[in-house]
Amino acid sequence: MSIFLNEKYKNLEVYTPGEQPQDMKYIKLNTNESPYPPSPGVVAAINAEQIENLRLYSDPECNKLREAMANLYGVKKENIYLSNGSDDILNFSVMAFCSDNTPAAFPEISYGFYKVFAELHNVTYKTIPLKEDFSIDYKDYMGLNSFIVIANPNAPTGRYLSLEEIEQIIKGNPNNVVLIDEAYIDFGGESVYPLTKRYKNLIVVGTFSKSRSMAGARLGFAIADQDLIDDLNRIKYSTNPYNINRLTLAAGEAAIKEDRYYKENCKRIINTREYTQKNLCDLGFTVVPSKANFIFAKSDKISGQALYENLKKRGILVRHFNMSKINDYNRITIGTVEEMQTFIKTVKEILEEVK
Ligand SMILES: *Cc1c(COP(=O)(O)O)cnc(C)c1O
Repeated sequence: MSIFLNEKYKNLEVYTPGEQPQDMKYIKLNTNESPYPPSPGVVAAINAEQIENLRLYSDPECNKLREAMANLYGVKKENIYLSNGSDDILNFSVMAFCSDNTPAAFPEISYGFYKVFAELHNVTYKTIPLKEDFSIDYKDYMGLNSFIVIANPNAPTGRYLSLEEIEQIIKGNPNNVVLIDEAYIDFGGESVYPLTKRYKNLIVVGTFSKSRSMAGARLGFAIADQDLIDDLNRIKYSTNPYNINRLTLAAGEAAIKEDRYYKENCKRIINTREYTQKNLCDLGFTVVPSKANFIFAKSDKISGQALYENLKKRGILVRHFNMSKINDYNRITIGTVEEMQTFIKTVKEILEEVK
């Protein structure tokens, strides 16, 4: 830290991303990326012409991609906002919708960035405990007088709230924005974006990073009433109007055209998730029911930390959170069937050794 850093950032606890080690090839089950590459159209879209065009700024309005997405989702282009990853949208939303009078509120165990963005912008926040089984009780979210953020399915638990439950939360907070972070919605949940037509206080946030195999491209989106989208644009045009680069826009447009490819991959991942869950249960693990592309599991034969370390030694990365209430668990991203077979076999070997 230099002596020049603004006081207000000195105690900031930054977000810790999952490891992206470059030293050797791991089976990477730690950051919820897709095991499948982007669709063929995306690979073809990043061509020499696109690269030559890099001398030009990208379209700040992202018109083509917003139109394509509006078609796919059955909303108007004016209801779509695009940004450099959905993290960007979470950040901008805290800037736009929180103030001294409007704190933030989110589940006690959830995506680590919510707390970081609140602290970054000096916003007070309350965290709402989960139930014993890690589920969220929508009744705990009535009349909070706060900007509410909920990941659905939640991370890192994989637990899921139904559309009806989310609707109760939206109705229970008519004077505040409710942001539903649907990073994992394509793995078996029902998106609540159709509710944006009826509720002016709902923002649904999605990403191309997980189900659309493009974590490295950085592309996130929001669907909401036009007034909320205008608010996000206010922040974007005061920060960086070109925050999505040309190659990412081209990749995104191609991906939307091949939506079926991604839906097929999601089905495969769901099947592999069921396979992995069953096999972990057979090994005596407690597995939290998941509607995401990961599962959250613990064993009473080995600590969360020890399992994480033993797997890493054998070339498999999973995510362990050194936090009270969840440090017995590991979050395991669902890879290909072959990767998960190797994972299960390796877990078996580790359990044999510690017996
Ligand atoms: C992965 C993830 C994101 C981040 O997505 P990007 O679009 O890659 O920034 C947002 N929210 C949750 C809950 C996530 O797990």
